[in-house]
Parts: sequence; structure tokens; C-alpha cells
Amino acid sequence: MTTPHQWRISESNAKLIGYRCPKCSWVSFPEKKRACKRCGSAPVEMMGFVMKPFGKIVSFVVQHRLPEGFETPLPLAIIEFEEGARAAGHIIDCKLEELHVGFEVEAEYRIMYEENGLTMYSYKFKPRRSH
Ligand SMILES: [Zn+2]
Repeated sequence: MTTPHQWRISESNAKLIGYRCPKCSWVSFPEKKRACKRCGSAPVEMMGFVMKPFGKIVSFVVQHRLPEGFETPLPLAIIEFEEGARAAGHIIDCKLEELHVGFEVEAEYRIMYEENGLTMYSYKFKPRRSH
């Protein structure tokens, strides 16, 4: 049975939570770190916040040869969010010719699967359509 508490947890999981260093504002994503990579503060209590889903491509590769079960070609990119955090992810719903460094994308957080009452999420990026 789903309790309100579990419901709240899954709701917050369905968002992009970043963690900001209180000393220099560097943002860690997706893990909460105990040491800041930029200013070196440790231990540090990073503050969680909901990041905007928008970012830009910093670099990318287009994967052509992957194990069975993957649709190819499949672009994989490093994204820098507006808040400064970086993450790697697949680009979907995009023409290969459109891709370039600086290309604006939007993160889409999706439920991957549910197992033993645990919901697993993952994010992908698609061309930014909203502002
Ligand atoms: Zn810092």
C-alpha cells in the first residue's frame, strides 16, 4: 500500500535535484557530495534544490555500434545545466544534423522500471522547445 510518505518521496524523485555548495555555489548532480569539487570545502552540507530541466550540449558522440536492443545511431552528450551542473545522457527526439555544441536541450525524467516497490528513474535529453 502506498502511504503519503512514500508518495512524497517518489514525487521528489521525479525532479532533478541538485546540491549546491554553501561556500561557492558549485552544483553537484545527481549525488549529494560531502566535499566540494570546486572550492574543496569538506565536509560540507550541500543544499538540495530543484534544478530547471534546461541545459546545453558541451560535447557529444554519436554511437553507431551498440549491443542488440539499442536503436542506433544514438547520440550521447555531456550537458551543462543552467545551474552549472554537468551530466551525461542520451539525446532523443532529435535529428543528427541538428546536434552541435551549445545546442539547447531539455531534460526529461522518466520512470525506467519498478522493482520490489522501488522506482528507478533515469533522464534523457531532447531539443528544448519550451522557455
Ligand atoms: Zn564549494
